[in-house]
Amino acid sequence: MPQIRIGSTSISYIIEPRIRRQYPAIQIDADGQMRVLVPLDYPLDGLEDLLVKKSRWILKHARVPFAFDVAKQFSDGAEFTILGETVRLLAEGCKRQGERPEVQRRDGLLYVALSTDQASGRAEAVQQALIDWYRTQARMVLPKRVDRYTAAVGIGPRGLKISQYTSRWGFCRADGFIAFDWRIVQAPERVVDYVVVHELTHRLYPHHRPAFWQALATVLPTYAVQKAWLQDHASALRRWTEHTW
Ligand SMILES: [Zn+2]
Repeated sequence: MPQIRIGSTSISYIIEPRIRRQYPAIQIDADGQMRVLVPLDYPLDGLEDLLVKKSRWILKHARVPFAFDVAKQFSDGAEFTILGETVRLLAEGCKRQGERPEVQRRDGLLYVALSTDQASGRAEAVQQALIDWYRTQARMVLPKRVDRYTAAVGIGPRGLKISQYTSRWGFCRADGFIAFDWRIVQAPERVVDYVVVHELTHRLYPHHRPAFWQALATVLPTYAVQKAWLQDHASALRRWTEHTW
């Protein structure tokens, strides 16, 4: 995803070429994602100048999580969440050169041990160590939640994959294979359960018609609250993982 830097904030955006459009236009979605609609043959190298000119408007319409401060995000004391619980980052270059970084969660801290050579490009190394750690957490947590809800929904998956997807938290294929985005484990447990039950329910109803939502509600009566939470926090859960250096 291309990015524009405004002050200390990096904002990524999606370029959407449109047949009928004559001039570029900037849109910001409800979840804070910026889209730039451009005519089909618009020269993209001129786009950055245009966005810089509009930077005041962009910052004004950007909501708080939308303004992303890289330096703050990966410095000590920065807050992350795991199953909705807040943990604070503490990183140290205490390992020998060439040693793999290690992440440990203890006493409300997310302790990242980097090797001395990684400590120089620290923020980037911290990001990668955290991504690896969260992926491992997801591989431990999500299969258990799937098992737990299989009986309640009445059917389980025919295969499970945990990976990273651009705009979906999970999906269920026609052959019964279910996949989740690892980043969902940052969300509160109930929200994780909503995503799990949502995909399991697709084993019964491969659509979003009323019968699907009714079936989901029999297992999770308050799913609408979790669904709304996820919509509000989607970009915050993804943003730090998507920053490129
Ligand atoms: Zn669905």
